[in-house]
Amino acid sequence: MDELSIYLHIPFCVRKCLYCDFLSFPVCGDGNTAENKHTGKSYVNLISPQKAAWVESYVNLIRDEIIRTAPEYKKYRVISVFVGGGTPSLLPTGAMRAILDAVRSGYRLEEDAEITLEMNPDTVTEEKLREYITCGINRLSIGLQSADDAELARIGRIHDYGTFAQAYETARRVGFANINIDLMAALPGQTIAAYGRTLRRVAALAPEHISAYSLTLEESTPLYERRREFSFPPEEEEREMYALTGTYLASCGYHRYEISNYARDGFECRHNKVYWRRGNYVGFGLGASSMTENVRWKNPTDGERYRNYVDALARAAEAGGSAGLREKNAEEFALQRLSVPEQMEEFMFLGLRMMRGVSGRTFRRVFGADMEETYGAVIGKLCGQGLLERDGERVRLTERGIDLSNYVMAQFLFD
Ligand code: SF4
Repeated sequence: MDELSIYLHIPFCVRKCLYCDFLSFPVCGDGNTAENKHTGKSYVNLISPQKAAWVESYVNLIRDEIIRTAPEYKKYRVISVFVGGGTPSLLPTGAMRAILDAVRSGYRLEEDAEITLEMNPDTVTEEKLREYITCGINRLSIGLQSADDAELARIGRIHDYGTFAQAYETARRVGFANINIDLMAALPGQTIAAYGRTLRRVAALAPEHISAYSLTLEESTPLYERRREFSFPPEEEEREMYALTGTYLASCGYHRYEISNYARDGFECRHNKVYWRRGNYVGFGLGASSMTENVRWKNPTDGERYRNYVDALARAAEAGGSAGLREKNAEEFALQRLSVPEQMEEFMFLGLRMMRGVSGRTFRRVFGADMEETYGAVIGKLCGQGLLERDGERVRLTERGIDLSNYVMAQFLFD
């Protein structure tokens, strides 16, 4: 039976962080001016009354989408579920349970499936965390970003380090044995020394997994507008921060298994590896992306269009199936049936993100073609430049290749 992973998008946040261009909307207080923990006010169960009905109707929509499309995925067993956003931990636990119950009722969820919830430190209580466990959630991904309160305030996070540390300790106490902590480097005003302190504080907590990405300054964000107010670490320092992440976390027992992801043995993120290995996954909710059997598509990002889609799913189900609905509206769903060359490109540039690299044997099994015959010239050139290395039938990035990964990946695109 084929494997499937499920992504559930919950597009609500307390307020927008200043650097954020994800598809998410503030639902607490009056958006960007909402009070925060620094002023002594917690966001636990603080969805504003004006926004509560909207949140509730979204929960009903995503449940309907999950249930109505289920017949399409009968042949799969689900190995992972990732509840992301947004800030899914903002939802009342009853809503979270209802969404996960919909998955359970319609899909063959493996007993040992990895079920991750993205969590913002200032949105949970001990009771909420206990409820998550009874919902079947067995992995938390906590967005900390930095252990420095001034850095957190500069990027508009709602929490401080103390709030995070309390939430982390509570999560451990109630029984979560698999926790990821998200960090960010190259923050405004951040020094290498301050970043090192964040790494030390976080590693001392011994989470099972750490993700560490560099801040990308997106043009549509308030931080971009205000970029001249801050000094950002130069590229050279950003590279030093990246190198420090690898060496320090290695000394603490974490191995880097993807360009920006580190884990203790046995705790690599099962869900994210499906993306990099081009496994089948389906995304539910506003703007969620999917890829099954080499067909990619994306749900509408507009609320009204998303609602129309879920309504149409009900009619499609009555007419005997929902599989053709997206095909008929291919443009709206940016539906793309990948050609074999496109699949090969993805195989290379997604697979090379992982430190194990790509396997010639797998390439042959998937495409019935030889990786060296297809990409030998490119691989040879990049090996010559010290950006890739061969290891038996595998090819992987070198340290220098990681630094220049965008350049390396681009070489695998066919003209
Ligand atoms: S919590 Fe995450 S999704 Fe929400 S605004 Fe901040 S960065 Fe964006």
